[in-house]
Amino acid sequence: MAIREIIVLPDKQLRLVSKPIEKVTPEIRKLADDMLETMYDAPGIGLAGIQVAQPLRIITMDLAKRDEEGETQPRPRVFINPEILSASEDMSVYEEGCLSIPEYYEEVERPAAVSVRFTDLDGKVHEEDAAGLYATCIQHEIDHLNGVLFGDYLSKLKRDRVMKKFTKAAKLAGK
Ligand code: ZN
Repeated sequence: MAIREIIVLPDKQLRLVSKPIEKVTPEIRKLADDMLETMYDAPGIGLAGIQVAQPLRIITMDLAKRDEEGETQPRPRVFINPEILSASEDMSVYEEGCLSIPEYYEEVERPAAVSVRFTDLDGKVHEEDAAGLYATCIQHEIDHLNGVLFGDYLSKLKRDRVMKKFTKAAKLAGK
């Protein structure tokens, strides 16, 4: 396993639409292992492929320590080609953060529950109902696969402020 570099705003790769994974190859397993290690090291609870500059539809997640609903989730988890099949009309608000927008947290409203379909590392297809933090996290990460960031749900004023901050930081870092 290896820790990969996490790309941050204003990196334009974060806006790419990631490609479906056609087959779980040894390279995909290696990517999943690296993503988990990178996620734990950060530390974070979810990571999408594009955040380590791989525009592929793969997500890693571990909510074991963070699920306020007290639901037990197998850990760690890898989701390949995940898609939302349906979403509840009920909404819930969580304070979200993102490893690609470091040290920035804002409340985001999303459907409180979703059903999701994905493939695991053995190539098996699963359908699951997600609620609580699981629902929020899987929606946040699937957004990454579509080039969407949680800041996109905020007001224009807040979005402009955060873009300015990260563009300035990148300039200072000589990027
Ligand atoms: Zn994120």
